[in-house]
Amino acid sequence: MIPARKPLRANSFEEINLFLNRAFDRIELDDGMRELLQRPWRELTVSLPVRMDDGHIEVFTGYRVQHNGARGPYKGGVRYDLAVNQHEVRALASLMTWKTALVDIPFGGGKGGVECNPRDMSEGELNRLTRRYTTSIDHIIGVNRDIPAPDMGTNSQTMAWMMDAYGLIHGYTPGIVTGKPVDLGGSVGRESAPGRGAVYVMTEAIRDLGLSIIGAQVVVQGFGQVGSWIVRILGEMGCNVIAVSDIKGGILVESGIDINRLFEYYREAKTVIGFPGSDTITNSELIQLPCDFLVPAAIESVVNSDNADLIKARVIVEAANHPITPEADDVMNDKGIPVLPDILVNAGGVVASYFEWTQNLYQHKWEEERVNEELRKIMVGAYDVVKEMVDRDGITYRDAAFAISVKRVANVAKMRGFI
Ligand code: NAD
Repeated sequence: MIPARKPLRANSFEEINLFLNRAFDRIELDDGMRELLQRPWRELTVSLPVRMDDGHIEVFTGYRVQHNGARGPYKGGVRYDLAVNQHEVRALASLMTWKTALVDIPFGGGKGGVECNPRDMSEGELNRLTRRYTTSIDHIIGVNRDIPAPDMGTNSQTMAWMMDAYGLIHGYTPGIVTGKPVDLGGSVGRESAPGRGAVYVMTEAIRDLGLSIIGAQVVVQGFGQVGSWIVRILGEMGCNVIAVSDIKGGILVESGIDINRLFEYYREAKTVIGFPGSDTITNSELIQLPCDFLVPAAIESVVNSDNADLIKARVIVEAANHPITPEADDVMNDKGIPVLPDILVNAGGVVASYFEWTQNLYQHKWEEERVNEELRKIMVGAYDVVKEMVDRDGITYRDAAFAISVKRVANVAKMRGFI
């Protein structure tokens, strides 16, 4: 039995605003601009009636939040999960505003979600739900307005259905969503990009922190689109991935996991649990393992005031969105554990989405080497700007990342005459 995920704490949006306020103080923003940058621009809640396979009608709740569009169309994933709620979508939309600004791509921040359990739904039910959701938010999305993408619980198939539902109204419009199947106008390299981008950032940080990638002990929570690629790429680079987990729990192999065998096992078992030669551990035990790099790549708030003192990692790499609460972030700072923040680390997904959107607008296809190389340039460039500020001002990676992105969004909002 899979436990239901706890929703992002009620104050998750305020938690992001707490990080933001530190940036506001740093760059001395006036009160009006502070208010503008904290609040979402537009929020839509929709009721989604869906005929289920047994004939009954289930009414789901869906959301789309457009946080800030000063720098370009709203951009952000759609999450399917039982714990989705307005706070969570709002918090994630805000993170997208700062992420797109930090990697300097021409998008604002948005996010969507539907409160549902996709693991318990048939393909037909998911197809019907996705079509309902798309047509219900149709009037606020668009290639130059708001471009959804996959997130937890959704994937390239979901995006194909969204594109089809939108196209029935507006005609063939591949650029309406990103993260599509390659045959439908998706980009090669998009699927691996969030994980690959995280590894590009990690590689730079490892060098700057005087650590070594070969043999580094890595613990990864989450074996989905983001986590599994991180495990695969780090394994290829010679890291020693000692523990991984999914929603059912984790596995530990102290001598290092044989990554190819784990992928073979996972293909059949659909979970990491039971991998031959491993010890089974809980997700909370996994978070507390001694290691060089702890990579939360699943859900939010997994490092919090309950376990912050017990963290033994040398560095934390936030591949998931908002995996560390502000209180725990302060504890990491006191303990001298560097935290590479989500808005930098996992921006690779939206960067590759930007490449996909660009290719769709020009009806053109890039090769995978080009996608990976352009991704590397943008991720390393963003890391360098953050690192320069960290070194110059003696602040955390998170504070530097937020200060840089807030300044960029505030400048553009001012130029456009928002304020
Ligand atoms: P996914 O649905 O593909 O995978 C999620 C993984 O986390 C799965 O292995 C799942 O079993 C595990 N998981 C779910 N609930 C859990 C729980 N309660 N405890 C432990 N593990 C749990 O999702 P994803 O796309 O890999 O997203 C993971 C994180 O990365 C999210 O925070 C998401 O917002 C963020 N992210 C995703 C992308 C993207 O393009 N997919 C881009 C940037 C950031």
